[in-house]
Amino acid sequence: MKLLEYEAKEIFKTFGIAVPSTGGVIRDANDIDAALKKAGDGPWVLKAQVLAGGRGKGGGVKLAKTEAEAREIAEKMVGMQLVTHQTDAKGLKVEEVLVDQASDIAREIYFSVVMDRKSGMPTIIASAEGGIEIEVLAHEKPEVILKMPVDPDRGLEPYQGRRLAFDLNIPQKQIGAFVKMASRLVQVFLKLDASLVEVNPLILTPEDELIALDGKMVTDDNALFRQKELAARRDPEISELEREAKKTGLSYIGLDGNIGCMVNGAGLAMGTMDTVSLAGGSPANFLDVGGGANEEQVTKALKIILRDSKVKAVLVNIFGGIMRCDTIANGVIAAAKAVDLKLPLIVRLEGTNVKEGKALLQDSGIKMEQADSLWEAAQKAVAAAGESK
Ligand code: ADP
Ligand code: MG
Repeated sequence: MKLLEYEAKEIFKTFGIAVPSTGGVIRDANDIDAALKKAGDGPWVLKAQVLAGGRGKGGGVKLAKTEAEAREIAEKMVGMQLVTHQTDAKGLKVEEVLVDQASDIAREIYFSVVMDRKSGMPTIIASAEGGIEIEVLAHEKPEVILKMPVDPDRGLEPYQGRRLAFDLNIPQKQIGAFVKMASRLVQVFLKLDASLVEVNPLILTPEDELIALDGKMVTDDNALFRQKELAARRDPEISELEREAKKTGLSYIGLDGNIGCMVNGAGLAMGTMDTVSLAGGSPANFLDVGGGANEEQVTKALKIILRDSKVKAVLVNIFGGIMRCDTIANGVIAAAKAVDLKLPLIVRLEGTNVKEGKALLQDSGIKMEQADSLWEAAQKAVAAAGESK
């Protein structure tokens, strides 16, 4: 899960990491005055909160010297489509704008903690040449990038922090402050089960103050069970439908096609989507109802699929393993009745008690086509979706 800049910086603050004085985020340009007041004296910086880098170059980070200027920028920025080199041509809609006090910048440093797959260790990546993107730096001047692995149990050792400080040319009197900040950023990474914590730029002011000016965090979804606060957060990258599916324990990802797929098991779901594509169709979603695909789950899944107005046919491809095919058939029948299904339904069952399952479907009186193989099911679904257009 990716966090927005202001969310990352709020977390930094609770770990004692210096961030700019802030007026918080506004979702309505009319709230700008209160935010400016809260941030303190000008000038201020208005920053589009979208999950993409390169906002500065894309026009998503603007300096405002006066209140009037801030108001003008806010009016343009709230609701705009921001295009950066990390977005597609359409860009991302700016729902929130962060209002920070502007800092005087003497130097911009790059600092991040990532998981290095090769060594299996959290690793600090840093460079005295911050401000520009690390990918660009890695390409043009790989020699100015420092790497330091960190023991996940012990965190950053003070000697490691000092080594980094020297290599980054941190002023003598600020070495202690830098070591503290670096080890706190490592703690953020470890405590929040992050896969990335990035501060670009980490600045030195003309007074040699160290401030995390920007913040980016990615956390591990698989650790959300022990990160209650993160789990409760609204993920801007997830659609309304995906959010609802998640609540009911379904793995659902909306796609662009018109064949709604209901499958158990992620591997089978991927295989089904591939087969639909191979048959010349296009899946409307990825949906894994899980191993225990009972009547309730199947009904919920069907309801979610049908809320997508692009869906023109529904393909059910379920393997009866833990759950027997007759149980699944009853689930499909009950679900089709519960939602009063009007769209073409294609069902392919395989596995334990498949005969009984098929007979139940046959005798249910519900309009559907059955298929004996996935290939047959996919072809039938593609044909049905074509006709019901
Ligand atoms: P992005 O990485 O998406 O481009 P940043 O937050 O890094 O966004 O901002 C881009 C640049 O804007 C920074 O490198 C810095 O020079 C400037 N900037 C950002 N925030 C501030 C601030 N609070 N005060 C002064 N300059 C800022
Ligand atoms: Mg940045």
